[in-house]
Amino acid sequence: KQSDEKDKDKADRATSDQVLDQRTRMILLQMINRGFVSEVHGAISTGKEANVYGAMLVDDKTGDVVHKAIKVYKTAILVFKDRERYITGEHRFKGGFDKGNNRKMVKLWAEKEFRNLRRIHSAGIPCPEPISLKLHVLVMGFLGDRKGWAYPRLRDATLIGDDVDQQWRTLYIQLLGIMRKMYQVCRLVHADLSEYNILYHDGLLYIIDVSQSVEPDHPRSLEFLRMDIKNVGDFFRRKGVDTLSDRAIFNFITAATGPVEEPGLAETLEKLYETRESAADEDQAAALEVDNEVFRNQYIPQTLEQVYNIEKDAQKLSQGEGGDLVYKNLLADQVVRPEEDQNDEDDSEDESGSGVSLSGSESGDESKFDKGR
Ligand code: ADP
Ligand code: MG
Repeated sequence: KQSDEKDKDKADRATSDQVLDQRTRMILLQMINRGFVSEVHGAISTGKEANVYGAMLVDDKTGDVVHKAIKVYKTAILVFKDRERYITGEHRFKGGFDKGNNRKMVKLWAEKEFRNLRRIHSAGIPCPEPISLKLHVLVMGFLGDRKGWAYPRLRDATLIGDDVDQQWRTLYIQLLGIMRKMYQVCRLVHADLSEYNILYHDGLLYIIDVSQSVEPDHPRSLEFLRMDIKNVGDFFRRKGVDTLSDRAIFNFITAATGPVEEPGLAETLEKLYETRESAADEDQAAALEVDNEVFRNQYIPQTLEQVYNIEKDAQKLSQGEGGDLVYKNLLADQVVRPEEDQNDEDDSEDESGSGVSLSGSESGDESKFDKGR
C-alpha cells in the first residue's frame, strides 16, 4: 500500500494541465485508495461538459497494467442549461431534478450516464464497462489498445483493404442493429448519436457518451430518435453507403416484434433492402430525400397518453394553444372545461420521493397506463 503522500501526487497529476477543484481531487484520491485505479493521467478529451482522463490500474503483484477512463463532469454553470430537456419528463429522475443546484445537476448527469452504460453493457452492446461512480466522477473501462491509445471516433476511423465500401456498409448495418437493440432491449434512445459518439476498432462500433439517453416514454424520445437516425444516415451517405429511408429505419428500430440479436437484425435489414420500392436510381434518391423530409416533420404520438388525453388537449385548445394537435379539428366543437388545474409538465408519479437512487427499479413505465387519468 502506498503512502498517502504518493497517492496524492498521482491524483494531482491529472490536475496539472486542467484545473480540477478540490472536491474532484478528493474523489480521484478516494478512487485510488479504493483500488479502482492506481494512477490518473492527462486528459484524453476536454469537452464543454466533461473531461475524460486516462488512468491505469496496476496489479501490485504481476505489474500488469489495465487502462481505464475517467469522465469528470464540469460543474460550471452555463453549459448545463441545455440539458434540462433531456431530464424533464424522465420518470427515472422525477423528484431528483433541481435546476438551481448545479452540483446536484452534474451528479445527476454522471449518474444517468452510469445507469445507461450499465444497461447497454449488460445487453452486450460494445461500450465502456461502467466501473465506479462518485458524485460527478465516473470510472469506466478504457476503449483502446494496451499502450493506452484510445480507439478513434468513427469520424476519424480509417478503414483499410480493397473492400472499404463493403466495410462501411457492414458498419452501417451493424449500427442500425445496435440502435434497435438499444431501443428494444435497453429501452434507450441515445439522443446524441453521431460519428462523434461512436468509437471504432477492428470492425466493431463502440457506443459512448450516453448521459443524455432517454427511455422511449420520454416525451421527446421519438424526436431524439429521428435526429439520431438522420445523423447516422447523413454520415454513412457521405461514406458512399446506399442507405435506407429514415422512415424504414425508424420502423425497424421501434417495431415491437422481430429479432433483437444478430444475425436476425442484419437479416431483417437485408430484407428491407430487397423489398424497398425499386425505382430508377436517381428518382430513388430524390424520392428518398422527399420521404425523409416528410417523415422528419410528421407528428408522432409518443405515448398512449398523448393519443388519448382528451381533457388535457381540450384544455390546451380552450387556451388557444392547440395548434400542434393532430386532431384539433375533431376536438374543436367539443371543448369542455377542465375540472381542475393540471400540471402539464409532470404527471407526478408515486416514486417522487425516492430521488435518483442507483439501485431503484427502472421499469416504472407500465404503471402509467394503468392509472386511467
Ligand atoms: P463529451 O460529453 O465530452 O462528448 P464523451 O463521452 O463523448 O464526452 O468523450 C469524449 C471523448 O473521450 C471521446 O470522443 C473519446 O475520444 C474519449 N473517450 C470517452 N470515453 C472513453 C473510453 N471509455 N475509452 C477511451 N476513450 C474514451
Ligand atoms: Mg461526445
